Amino acid sequence: MTFHRKETVLIPESDLDGMSVDTLAVRAGQLRTGQLEHSDAIFPTSSFVYNSAAQAAARFGGEEPGNIYSRFTNPTVQAFESRIAAMEGGERAVATSSGMAAILSTCMALLKSGDHVICSRGVFGTTNVLFQKYMAKFGVATTFVSLTDLEEWGSAVRPDTRMLFIETPSNPLCEVADMEALAQLAHDNGALFVVDNCFCTPVLQRPLEHGADIVIHSATKYLDGQGRCVGGVVVGPAKLMDEVYGFLRSAGPTMSPFNAWVFHKGLETLPIRMRAHCDNALELARWLEQQPAVEQVYYAGLESHPQHELAKKQQKGFGGVVAFCVKGGREEAWKFIDATRMISITANLGDVKTTITHPATTTHGRLSPEDKSGAGITENLLRLSVGIEAVEDLKTDLYRGFQALQNASNT
Ligand SMILES: *Cc1c(COP(=O)(O)O)cnc(C)c1O
Repeated sequence: MTFHRKETVLIPESDLDGMSVDTLAVRAGQLRTGQLEHSDAIFPTSSFVYNSAAQAAARFGGEEPGNIYSRFTNPTVQAFESRIAAMEGGERAVATSSGMAAILSTCMALLKSGDHVICSRGVFGTTNVLFQKYMAKFGVATTFVSLTDLEEWGSAVRPDTRMLFIETPSNPLCEVADMEALAQLAHDNGALFVVDNCFCTPVLQRPLEHGADIVIHSATKYLDGQGRCVGGVVVGPAKLMDEVYGFLRSAGPTMSPFNAWVFHKGLETLPIRMRAHCDNALELARWLEQQPAVEQVYYAGLESHPQHELAKKQQKGFGGVVAFCVKGGREEAWKFIDATRMISITANLGDVKTTITHPATTTHGRLSPEDKSGAGITENLLRLSVGIEAVEDLKTDLYRGFQALQNASNT
C-alpha cells in the first residue's frame, strides 16, 4: 500500500477580504488535509518527519517552509492563529499557553532593562503582579495610572517609556478608555500601545482599528467560551509578531494543538455567543439598578455610565461583565453569593454559564489595600460574568441573593 504525502493547507484567505467578523469566525483560517474534511483536523504531534536528510536540512535551514517541532509551529495552532488574526484585522497572531503567557511574551520580546511601562490601574490582578513584581526584577519599571484620566497618562510619560498597556472595558468596573487618544500619546512618544481585548473580543471591538499596535487575549475566556482550556494569543503587525514568536520559540510557552483546536472551534460560535452575553448583561444591569439593596451598578451599556458615549463609539456591544455593589461590606457580599443556587461561584469569566465572584478576596485578593482602593475593588463589590441562560432564570437566582440580604436585615 502506498501512502501519498499530502501537505496540510490553510485555505487561501484572499476571498475573505472585507468580510464581516461573523463570517471570518467560521471561514478564516480553515485547515484542510488530503481528506478534504469539512471540520478542521487536529494535529497532536510533538514533531514532524521528512522525506530525506536533505529535506530535514532544508527545513532546519529555513530554505523550505514547513513544520519541524510543535514548540515552533503546529498546523492546528496555525489555523487558530490565522482565524483570530483575520478577526482582529491584524497581520499575524502568535498563540500562547495562557493569557498571562501572551502578556509575558509580549513584554519579554519588546521591552528591555531600563524601559518604562505605563499601565492602567484596573487591570487583571495577575497582570498587575507581573509588572510590579516580575518585570521590575528585570529592570522594567511600571507606573500605574487611572484608565480614564488622560492627563495622568500624559504626565506619567518619561523619556524611557516604551509601552502603554490597558484593558478596555476594565475588569471588573467596566471603565472605558479612549483608545485613539492613548494611541496618539504612545506614538508621539515612541511607545507601543497594547490593548488586552479579553472583555470585548473582536466581535465587539477591534483595537487595531483605533490605533493599538498589539492586541492581547486570554483565549481562556470568551474565545473558548465553554470553560475547557487555558490559552492566550497576541495579534499585531508581522514585524512585532516575529519578535514575539522568536521569544516563544526560545522560551516555550506555546499553545498545545488540542487547546488550539478547541479555541478554533470556539471562535465559530463567538459572534452569536457575544450577542447573547450582551443582551442578557444589559437586561440584568438595568434590573440590578432598580434593586433597593444595590448601591451602584457598573456597566458601560447603562446611560448612567460615565463613558457610555465613548463605549458606543468604540464598541459594537457592551460585553457580558456586570459589576455591582450591594449595601454593606464583605459579609453582605458573601451572603449574596452564597444564596444563589444556579449561578457558578467561580472567578472565571466569559463562559456560557453565568458566574459570580467577590473580586476583593479572589481575582484581586493579592493586591495591597492601596492598590485595591485605587482600582475601586471595594469589599461590597460583586462581579457577574453573565452567561447565555434565559435571563428570567438568572433574575430568579439573583433574587435569592436579595432575599437573603433582606432576611438578614430583618433579624
Ligand atoms: C484572565 C485574564 C487574563 C489572564 O489570562 P489567563 O488565560 O488566565 O492566563 C488576562 N487579562 C484579562 C483581562 C483576563 O480576564
